[in-house]
Amino acid sequence: MLTSRQSLNDLLAELPSRDWDLLRPHLRVIELNFGPALIEAGLPVKQVIFPHGGIVATMEILSRGESIETGMIGRGGVVGSGAAFYDVPSPSAAVVRFPGPASAIEAGQFRSLMGISAALRDVVMRDLWTRSVKAEQTAACNAAHSAEQRLCRRLLHSRTLSGSDTMLLSQDLMAQMLGVKRNTISLIAHALQQKGVIRYSRGRMAIIDVDALASRSCECQLADGSIRPLASPRLSLAPRAVPECSIQRSPS
Ligand SMILES: [Zn+2]
Repeated sequence: MLTSRQSLNDLLAELPSRDWDLLRPHLRVIELNFGPALIEAGLPVKQVIFPHGGIVATMEILSRGESIETGMIGRGGVVGSGAAFYDVPSPSAAVVRFPGPASAIEAGQFRSLMGISAALRDVVMRDLWTRSVKAEQTAACNAAHSAEQRLCRRLLHSRTLSGSDTMLLSQDLMAQMLGVKRNTISLIAHALQQKGVIRYSRGRMAIIDVDALASRSCECQLADGSIRPLASPRLSLAPRAVPECSIQRSPS
């Protein structure tokens, strides 16, 4: 059973002790690995996931079968919370972009706890708001900035979320990230490698010169990770009486 949340996920770390004690018995630690999608577009969400590390990408699936990355979620966010809370099919898919551990809770249990924990609702809603703002910013980025600028921004953001300069990232995946043709990625990656910014071989990409990568990125890099509202002023996060929990808890 989980005993501490401080080193797990930023949202879990923000919960007051009372609310953490409500949530903790229902969380189980899982490993996020490459493979089948964590969430399928158009299907109900089975579990809500709080990454401890690694990266989960949200994907928009188009009618022609193409998939385009619309966002990245790391230890500062939660995966599947919106669809689970409203008990609706997920509009987008979620796949592991960078492996790592996570805490997961069954979707129905998560929905029940959202009904009795104002602090959990607050951290989850702030995360949804943050992702909404980032999606708006990315829409502007896609329209205004070049593919090279956007790729450099995504690589910097991936580095921040994963905490690693090296990642498994095929050119097909990079094309998905930006919604561009693979040939476009091939040309950009080759140019960046020639200039010593990255090193790329057989699907493994290493960032060699972070400053050069930042200088080639668009201005949107500055907002990545900095968009985050503070706790609702109407919500005191100090320990307080929490309504009786009628949910069946799993044995601890
Ligand atoms: Zn941009």
